[in-house]
Amino acid sequence: MLRISNISKSFGVVKALNNINLEIDNGEFFSLLGPSGCGKTTLLRIISGFELPDNGEIILNEQNITNTKPYNRPTNLLFQSYALFPHLNVMQNISYGLQREKISKIEIDKRVNAIMEKTSLNGLQDRKPIELSGGQMQRVALARCLVKEPKILLLDEPLSALDKSLKEKMKIELKKIQKDFKTTFIMVTHDQDEALVLADKIAVMDNGEIIQVDTPKILYSSPKNYFVANFIGKMNFIEFNASNNETNTANKKLLNSGIIKDKNSKNILGIRPEDIYLTINETLNFEFEAEIIHVAYHGQEVELIAKSDLGFGEISIKADKSFHNVEKNSKISCFCNINSFKIY
Ligand code: ATP
Repeated sequence: MLRISNISKSFGVVKALNNINLEIDNGEFFSLLGPSGCGKTTLLRIISGFELPDNGEIILNEQNITNTKPYNRPTNLLFQSYALFPHLNVMQNISYGLQREKISKIEIDKRVNAIMEKTSLNGLQDRKPIELSGGQMQRVALARCLVKEPKILLLDEPLSALDKSLKEKMKIELKKIQKDFKTTFIMVTHDQDEALVLADKIAVMDNGEIIQVDTPKILYSSPKNYFVANFIGKMNFIEFNASNNETNTANKKLLNSGIIKDKNSKNILGIRPEDIYLTINETLNFEFEAEIIHVAYHGQEVELIAKSDLGFGEISIKADKSFHNVEKNSKISCFCNINSFKIY
């Protein structure tokens, strides 16, 4: 549906976007994810028409819209700050865009009422923005965009103004609303949890470039490189020096496993915390030792921070509450499948 082709953009000497290529399907919840300054807002602004690229094209349903003015594009941008009109009530805020389009009052009322129903705003029509909670304001802003029936809704960090518990609630609502309306959503965020929970597909960006585009599941299970592995979910990184002469049993087994690519220098091993077990079962074919440095309590779960005998770097291990009272500096045996290690 939307094809972003060879898009580049510089601001003076800063190359904000470097040859971006992306394809986004109809009805998809797509997320642009990356650290601050990686270029995601610039890309969103180019898709919405508020910024023009130096090079490249934006093709929507086979139509080149690269130079089309924002108000002539079938896209709508949900601002981070919601940008509601403070002097208008909820109903007036939502209907404002339609009134400017010279649609009949009957049709406007019909569409506004339908959207208020779907976004759970019934009963709040007469309230001014100042009389609304953060979550309600967010729903009004969403309703105001959706009532115009855009083909694509662009969302710039839509949950960033909400506190933690409201954010969790709105995440589920946002996903429900998107599936209900079947509108294509493109959401910018630097919050990996938000992207993993909401998006059908995620483009991970760094330094003006797209590093990997995949479903949340594939990004998590098969990150393409160190940057993605480090950015998506928690990953333990161990600096394994293959040329170390004092190799212990675990090191020797790793060296002979075929995982280690460069036997003459250091290798960065990555393993997810949930792939390390503290009791053995028949699927786990590798054992190593670790020394506990710190025990962090998370209610029912315990996180053990430890130093393994595989090399340099602290690792995080998930444990159950029976490890609440484990002593610092005590040694533990860790078990995993040798194929859970990946080299970065
Ligand atoms: P954040 O998450 O912090 O909003 P971002 O990933 O959205 O960051 P952009 O806002 O797209 O990043 O900015 C990308 C780069 O371009 C940054 O180095 C930024 O300073 C620069 N930049 C963006 N807009 C302008 C502008 N109008 N003038 C000059 N430099 C800009």
